[in-house]
Amino acid sequence: MTYEPVIGLEVHLHLKTQTKAFCGCSTEFGQEPNSQVCPVCLGFPGSLPVLNKTALDYGLKVALALNCQIQEYTKFDRKNYFYPDLPKNYQISQYDLPLSKNGFLEIALDGGKLKRIGIRRVHLEEDAGKLIHQEDSSLIDFNRAGIPLLEIVSEPGLNSPGEAHEYLTTLKSIIEYLYVSDCDMEKGSLRCDANISLRKTGQQDLGTKAELKNMNSFKAVKEALTFEIERQAELLNQKKTVVQETRSWDVKNLETVSMRTKEEAQDYRYFPEPDLPPFILSPDKITEIKKTIPELPRDKMLRFVKDYGLSDYDAKILVATLKDANFSEECIRLYSKNDKKPIVNWLIGPILYEANSRNCNLSDLGVAVKDLIGLVDFVERQEISYLAAKSVLSEMINIKDSPANIIQKKNLAQISDIKSLELQVGEVLKENPKSIQDYKAGKGNAIMFLVGQIMKKTGGKANPKVVQEILKRRLSNA
Ligand SMILES: [Zn+2]
Repeated sequence: MTYEPVIGLEVHLHLKTQTKAFCGCSTEFGQEPNSQVCPVCLGFPGSLPVLNKTALDYGLKVALALNCQIQEYTKFDRKNYFYPDLPKNYQISQYDLPLSKNGFLEIALDGGKLKRIGIRRVHLEEDAGKLIHQEDSSLIDFNRAGIPLLEIVSEPGLNSPGEAHEYLTTLKSIIEYLYVSDCDMEKGSLRCDANISLRKTGQQDLGTKAELKNMNSFKAVKEALTFEIERQAELLNQKKTVVQETRSWDVKNLETVSMRTKEEAQDYRYFPEPDLPPFILSPDKITEIKKTIPELPRDKMLRFVKDYGLSDYDAKILVATLKDANFSEECIRLYSKNDKKPIVNWLIGPILYEANSRNCNLSDLGVAVKDLIGLVDFVERQEISYLAAKSVLSEMINIKDSPANIIQKKNLAQISDIKSLELQVGEVLKENPKSIQDYKAGKGNAIMFLVGQIMKKTGGKANPKVVQEILKRRLSNA
């Protein structure tokens, strides 16, 4: 039997505000436990919440970027449940009148086709405290209690773990462009839960779903979904029922385990938060927020393709983060040739490699745009080899010097001088008679091996093009 997975994602984002959602406590990460608390976020009797305006603005910004309809009239509700990390015994959230509804996010499928995923709602709420479990006891830190959270709920419109991964990557990229959250899963500022059910291929009705929690990376989301598809398919094949429940991802054993049967909305006894008035969002307010939304990744990608002749693939890599996009665009604009391919190849090749291996953005490498362009020009004029240029780049990052100085200091200028190269070629041919035979027997690859030997002999300084020409001539005469 073949099944179609039906997946919906719930993403929780910490908004990057200075203070908490309903009080003036700091939101700074990593401070002394319970040092950022007050009567409001500790739920003392008689304390009153006041909504943080920046949290509301950030929430609206995300909702608009996700094409949601902003609700003119919105209110907060109490979601009641009892848990040690929840000092008030309720969480201020939004129930029937959320900030926004009915948006969508477009994700790129393999092959570049776009798929539109519905966004059911985007609403504001507050985070709970953090429990730290020890061997024989648990500790509680309330610094996190009251930090503004944005909940982004997708429709169950994703049909594979790969699509779920693409949705998360695309969403994260947009949020980073909006500059409203760190999106750091390790610090818990981006968290994701997933709903998943299976149905027979072609069937309309949804199957029974499980909710997956405690996935600490996008990779874990993908793995947990993959595991869950197999688990549910096995149950269905054996004609057993899938139980509606919440399951936790066990990262050690790579499996999901049952946590509890799923609560229904009525279990939370939602009712309107009496200490906060409803909010009316005027069209002027929405227009004002709209103006603060920058060009988003997808639009930027399309513009890079149109304006600079980049491929979709290259453009998508370069616009993944706003910092990289800005840095790349400056390099491409200032590169003087009409054909931007050489600078683009360096950006998505060696420069991105250096940034990835340092886990930083391109601009954080500390290399000036003009120096990068200078380096690419050296290669294009064939004054240094590609191999040598890569080592110059590493040196530029390490000692912050110009490419010209490094090339001179390290004596890396390319040998294009035919006379000296002829000598080197002669020696290498003498040392490798087998390769000459191979070449004559029709093995074209043998010539690349010989080029490699000469590059080695010259410490990467020989001009490979010239070497190849000499080799070809001498081998056909040999
Ligand atoms: Zn507080």
